[in-house]
Amino acid sequence: MAHVELRGLSKQFGAVEVIRDLSLDIEAGEFCALLGPSGCGKSTLLRMIAGLETVTAGKVTIAGRDVTQVPPAKRQISMVFQSYALYPHMSVRQNIGFSLEIAGAPKAEIARKVEKAAAMLQLDPYLDRKPAQLSGGQRQRVAIGRALVRDPQVFLFDEPLSNLDAKLRVQMRLELAKLHQELKTTMIYVTHDQVEAMTLADRIVVLDAGRIAQVGSPLDLYHRPQNKFVASFIGSPA
Ligand code: ADP
Ligand code: MG
Repeated sequence: MAHVELRGLSKQFGAVEVIRDLSLDIEAGEFCALLGPSGCGKSTLLRMIAGLETVTAGKVTIAGRDVTQVPPAKRQISMVFQSYALYPHMSVRQNIGFSLEIAGAPKAEIARKVEKAAAMLQLDPYLDRKPAQLSGGQRQRVAIGRALVRDPQVFLFDEPLSNLDAKLRVQMRLELAKLHQELKTTMIYVTHDQVEAMTLADRIVVLDAGRIAQVGSPLDLYHRPQNKFVASFIGSPA
């Protein structure tokens, strides 16, 4: 049994089908990248896994449980968005702990989890600052910290680094790789950036207009693209 199983997933917005009969297995502990050009349906697919978007047809199973009709908060997933979506009026500490507070966790437990996440993400010195007083990279770390404290089974990332400058993006890539090594959690990572997918993922799913063009390891896709779309997108010089 795979950790996340997608079976015959489709999504229609009006008359437009943006995800088309898509099936995919994602193994426990895997770092899986969903790679494709803008508009190919990556965010829609991720949001369907998260439960933020209803499915038109098909099934989402997480850890053997059919969650197709289960609300996001009960799927044991955490999602990190491109826009960070931090609460501007709250401190870093409050931002990271907020979901636990909402869930009614004891204060001591919240404090412990927030501090652990902050240490992992090198945010300790900034816990009492507001988001506006942070750099882009620090804000993104807060967004990751907020996902971390919920102890999710699955992390979903939607282009989390695309608002950062090139240098910071490289640094955050290394930090995400380290985070995955430490947590060994299943990670599903949406990106339109080939280099990001190639350097981070165990396996890359290339999406073309709502369908899977190819699934494979970075080396597989690079050396053995199965069609022109993948070849041009992964950019093998051959
Ligand atoms: P990606 O993340 O790969 O850039 P998206 O999943 O955001 O692509 O979008 C896929 C397609 O679905 C696009 O054509 C987009 O315009 C369309 N789409 C996304 N969300 C909606 C929506 N809520 N209503 C109508 N169309 C949408
Ligand atoms: Mg998107």
